[in-house]
Amino acid sequence: MEKRKLLDESYKELEDKKEEIQFLYYNDTLTNIPNRVHGQKNLREIIAKNHSNKKIAVALMGADNFKHINETFNHNIGDRLLKNIGKRLLSSFTYNKVSRLGGDEFMVVIGDINSHMDVEKNVNRIMEEMKKDFHIEENIIGINCSIGVAIYPSHSTDIDSLYRYADIALMEVKRNGGNNLKIFKEDLLEKSYKDIQMKEKLMEAVRNHTLDIYYQPKVDIHNNNMVGCEALLRWNHPEKGYISPEYFIGLAEKYNLMKEIDNYVFIKVLKQLKNWIKEGFEPVHVAINISAERFYDYDFTKRVCTFIEEINIDTNLLNFEITETNIMKNPYKARETLNLIRGKGISISLDDFGTGYSSLNYLKLFPIDTLKIDKSFIEEICYDKVNRTIVEATITMAKVLDLKIVAEGIEEEEQLAMLKYMGCDEYQGYYFSKPIPAGEFELLLKKNSESSI
Ligand code: C2E
Ligand code: MG
Ligand code: MG
Repeated sequence: MEKRKLLDESYKELEDKKEEIQFLYYNDTLTNIPNRVHGQKNLREIIAKNHSNKKIAVALMGADNFKHINETFNHNIGDRLLKNIGKRLLSSFTYNKVSRLGGDEFMVVIGDINSHMDVEKNVNRIMEEMKKDFHIEENIIGINCSIGVAIYPSHSTDIDSLYRYADIALMEVKRNGGNNLKIFKEDLLEKSYKDIQMKEKLMEAVRNHTLDIYYQPKVDIHNNNMVGCEALLRWNHPEKGYISPEYFIGLAEKYNLMKEIDNYVFIKVLKQLKNWIKEGFEPVHVAINISAERFYDYDFTKRVCTFIEEINIDTNLLNFEITETNIMKNPYKARETLNLIRGKGISISLDDFGTGYSSLNYLKLFPIDTLKIDKSFIEEICYDKVNRTIVEATITMAKVLDLKIVAEGIEEEEQLAMLKYMGCDEYQGYYFSKPIPAGEFELLLKKNSESSI
């Protein structure tokens, strides 16, 4: 009897808590909007109730560079930003139409759709809403967002597929720099399938050490002597042949593989450099490209220092190239990391200069040794007055800041003559040499060593 009473009591207690448990099961505790499970349930219900001919759009939204907001401020601010994003979505859409899928990803269901224009109108409203400043503590934070959309029933009647298609469209937006909308299309599916296959092959190549490093000389513009080189990754696939770095580096960025790839390059290049020294070649500076993913990783400097100590190499021979855009992603963290690297004796080049938005004046806050003028400016330098003026002004300002100037992508004598005249220090380009395998590069090193005797 006593047992029965106890059982009844605990059952009652459970019944009382049911609502609370249900709330927790369906609600995202951080933002107080529906979570993934609830969002899917709502979508199912909205679809079931849709008896008109109108379509329903599933929009997946991601905040661009959210990781960097967490790094620049802190996780607490990041959490509060997510809460505010949820609030803003609720101010434009009803509770059953929004949900948080996890991280910085949200879903919005848009009903009553007749055309792509209806989708665009609604999505633009979300993007405009997100662009307005968020005031969190004393910080003013602005965000851009990327949105991928799949449409019921045009793309699928199955909820899982709608999610997947919207996600594929979202990935495509992010791949193209974010801050945009993409509506799913069949050909994206094929592209995404191919990308997944290639990603697997790329990981295999990293594991099997079958990616090559090529070296492209950096040349003193005044005497045409090779003074250094840049290490560039090459992938020659046994069946597919040469695969362009633009493609596979982009792929690695999309699937967060750059950390592994940059480590691979770093270790391989240092071992190569050590070998050249052992074999008696007069060593030259070697520049290594560092991706944002690797650069902003918490153990980046530690791993670099440990490996340098292990292999015991003169750090003055090393140069890290980081793009202007990547430095600007998180200037505070970038400055700290660059100072640490510089403190170890490694010099820093700012790659692809001119393609980002920073001013030279701002860049003096960073410990940078060299500016590499992006090859897009050099390409047109002989024909385009605007490009010429930009390059000239960049060189003049860089001299004031005591920075060395390297021009990328010199292919013609006229370009070289013009840059020499403007006061550029070094150049890189097919005019002197394309990136070449280590074996071929050794011949240049040999020639260099002989001419310096
Ligand atoms: P980047 O670091 O700006 O490298 C310079 C690019 O310009 C290289 O392209 C090089 O082959 C190309 N180039 C050099 N001279 C000329 C020229 O005279 N004319 C033309 N048209 N192009 C020239 P590549 O090797 O295709 O690499 C593309 C980008 O991929 C690199 O741009 C870099 O951002 C990235 N990348 C390549 N290897 C690595 C790597 O090991 N790690 C990382 N993180 N990124 C890499
Ligand atoms: Mg580079
Ligand atoms: Mg470059």
